[in-house]
Amino acid sequence: SASIFAAVEMAPRDPILGLNEAFAADTRAEKVNLGVGVYYDDNGKIPLLAAVRAAEKARLEAMPARGYQPIEGAVAYNTGVQNLLFGKDSALLANGQVVTIEALGGTGALKVGADYLKRLLPGSTVYISDPSWENHRALFESAGFPVETYPYYEASTRGVDFAAMKAKLESLPAGAIVVLHACCHNPTGADLSDTQWDDVVAACRSRGLIPFLDMAYQGFADGIEADAVAVRAFSASGLQFFISSSFSKSFSLYGERVGALSVVTSSKEESGRVLSQIKRVIRTNYSNPPTHGGAVVAAVLNSPELRQQWEDELAGMRDRIRAMRTGLVEALKAEGVAQDFSFVIKQRGMFSYTGLSAAQVERLKNEFGIYAVSTGRICLAALNNKNLGYVAKAIAAVVKG
Ligand code: PLP
Repeated sequence: SASIFAAVEMAPRDPILGLNEAFAADTRAEKVNLGVGVYYDDNGKIPLLAAVRAAEKARLEAMPARGYQPIEGAVAYNTGVQNLLFGKDSALLANGQVVTIEALGGTGALKVGADYLKRLLPGSTVYISDPSWENHRALFESAGFPVETYPYYEASTRGVDFAAMKAKLESLPAGAIVVLHACCHNPTGADLSDTQWDDVVAACRSRGLIPFLDMAYQGFADGIEADAVAVRAFSASGLQFFISSSFSKSFSLYGERVGALSVVTSSKEESGRVLSQIKRVIRTNYSNPPTHGGAVVAAVLNSPELRQQWEDELAGMRDRIRAMRTGLVEALKAEGVAQDFSFVIKQRGMFSYTGLSAAQVERLKNEFGIYAVSTGRICLAALNNKNLGYVAKAIAAVVKG
């Protein structure tokens, strides 16, 4: 008899993973992969932070047993997450209005949040930015929601079309779920200003929307506190909202899958009921989170010395990306490129929408072995002092025609 898999179709390839495969197969020594979504150091390597190394060494020496964690993860970890997001002196934290659970990276946090929201508001629609991180749509669709977009990026200014975004938010029905990039928008690098965040909060309040902040890059724009501006604006609003957060980038712990879902409720009593429901979602999905990554992050956050070391290392990553932004703009100028690329300096986080066309991206690959996403997104953290000049020459060649 025929295999039950006989009629299974091949799923479409993930575009970014496909790019990585093509890059790996390229034999040119000078090749550069700007398509990645991770931070590389100036040697082109994913760093293992010294603060992480110290916490892991202590953990290895202590040889802890590996019992199950609570369904929601460790208290020390969840408290550490809350302090980073809301600030130590947060009234919401003091009032017990924040529920936080340890999740499997930012993606896992989004999925637990999405599954819980599907139980809470089964008829709702999810709105994501146009464009957005490519997994947002698939993730919320897989949780059973219709997914639509709100206007965000404006190609002519390489910034946010805030008037269009605001008008759209103000037209949404009550109970619509709005996914917002809290900082370092992926893929465009274009963020909202502080006053624009206030306007988004006002729109969410007046329309009765459900904000879901995605915070995957805290510390990569202006610093840990400064990058929490959206969280703080919503915290002051009295609204209920969701936050997914991730340490993949800020701790360079991609493969350990360390993230969290936080939900702001209206009271401590409500928090208890909401947590009990979120625990059901987790219990029937992966039961409880793994031990190692969260323990390492908690150890760093809760030790004054390691915490300082981590903040310094995070600042180092942030400053290096900024130096690459400035360096690229200057190198393009030096190559005689007339087009103004100074927007690259204004964009924030790891990425830039460069405005390079799909045809130009294709030429970068074919003629120079430089790989980027066909939308023109490049990862600034893939640039370093060795490849910057080469990349600038190549971009100059393709934009000059
Ligand atoms: N959200 C956004 C906007 C991202 O860019 C990413 C990672 O690229 C994630 C979530 C997922 O992060 P994690 O790797 O922690 O699951």
